[in-house]
Amino acid sequence: MIRDIIIAIDGHSGCGKSTTSRLLAKYLNFKYLDSGAMYRAVTLFFMNNNILPSQDIEINNALKDIQIDFKYVDGEQHVFLNNNDIESDIRSDDVSNNVSLFSSNSFLRKFLVNKQKAFGNNKDIVVEGRDITTVVFPDAEIKVFMTANIEVRAKRRFNEMKIKNPEITYSDVIDNLEKRDVQDSTRKDSPLMIANDAFILDTSDLEISEQVDKIINFIKKKFS
Ligand code: C5P
Repeated sequence: MIRDIIIAIDGHSGCGKSTTSRLLAKYLNFKYLDSGAMYRAVTLFFMNNNILPSQDIEINNALKDIQIDFKYVDGEQHVFLNNNDIESDIRSDDVSNNVSLFSSNSFLRKFLVNKQKAFGNNKDIVVEGRDITTVVFPDAEIKVFMTANIEVRAKRRFNEMKIKNPEITYSDVIDNLEKRDVQDSTRKDSPLMIANDAFILDTSDLEISEQVDKIINFIKKKFS
């Protein structure tokens, strides 16, 4: 039985990280942390309070007023901001279009990284994001970097999003993914990059169940 480890997963937007991580956690009976949901939650807070990504002082002062929790609602993990369930609000286009701008702010990153580290204290957790293998848990026993070609990612994300938002176009989605790829990979503080010892998983031609299987095989090999 695999126990007492942290599984850290980073990668590009829309390559299946969240679904794969959630299923992997369920299979192993591990906890699951979607760090992107935390960046989305604080983005929503700042947008609602008319604070801009460049306003360091305002951001730093406001962080004490932000409480983020995860709770289960109808069997699904939801993110709560100051006791309000904001799970569907954080997936809006507005938040998706602004989150990478806010997440380059170092005050905000420090605040969230500390919270993420605390979640990993007792191990047996799958954590996914952009800097999990490099900054949050650089000593994680298992590190995975997930990617896929941009058309595949955009198609998957578009199919997912058009159910909730029939107005959205494929070109909106591909634009958002491309912008976030650039912003997330080029920011000064904790850019998205591949950790030296990461298992690189290209999901362009893989079904979700195959993605989970590949990670499980990698873990088994590492501990055999
Ligand atoms: O994973 P998701 O697409 O929901 O993440 C939203 C955004 O949050 C990313 O595009 C990135 O800007 C930011 N993020 C981050 N570091 C993480 C997780 C997410 O900067 N560990």
